[in-house]
Amino acid sequence: MYLVLLGPPGAGKGTQGALLAKRAGLVKIATGDLLRAAVRDGTPLGQQAKGYMDSGQLVPDEVVLGLIDEVLAAPEARHGVIMDGFPRTVAQAEAVDQHLDERQCGVDLALGITVPRDELIRRLRGRADQEGRSDDTPEAIRARLGVYEEETAPLIAYYKGKGILAEVDGVGTVEEIAARIDEALGQ
Ligand code: ADP
Repeated sequence: MYLVLLGPPGAGKGTQGALLAKRAGLVKIATGDLLRAAVRDGTPLGQQAKGYMDSGQLVPDEVVLGLIDEVLAAPEARHGVIMDGFPRTVAQAEAVDQHLDERQCGVDLALGITVPRDELIRRLRGRADQEGRSDDTPEAIRARLGVYEEETAPLIAYYKGKGILAEVDGVGTVEEIAARIDEALGQ
């Protein structure tokens, strides 16, 4: 199963994606994690990505599309993958569709996790205190939420148009939200 997790920063994609991966026996891949590792390792990809990430902007599609292709071509993704943090632009969504189409498969479901903006800001500030991520400064948080609205939120309509969007309320306990996700997946 190819599942896209959609939602703003702080919606809980990482948490719920990891739990769902365990329940469904799928791998979860997060481009944010891969990019942070590339930055840590100082690879050419990391060097290109760092400035964008720190300021809360998206890493440009030209840079990320190769990474997405690599992720989808990896052996562990052959039978499906939970995509966390990508696709993040319409161009990335089209690239994912094209890649999967070439293998006679496609995105089965896009799972949108919805959380009100003030709750997102509260969560991201809390995470900043705990994790100290370099893009959890107040300015970068604001930028990431704005970038989400402008560049990623259009994917909700994109997947709705394909008839494969399911939306779940992302406010509640981790267990409550996991149960809603299972319901949306028909499990
Ligand atoms: P969050 O969901 O909290 O924004 P992520 O770990 O998904 O965190 O992403 C962190 C940063 O990594 C983003 O702000 C962006 O700069 C970069 N990034 C991650 N995935 C992508 C992607 N698919 N396309 C472009 N940039 C990305």
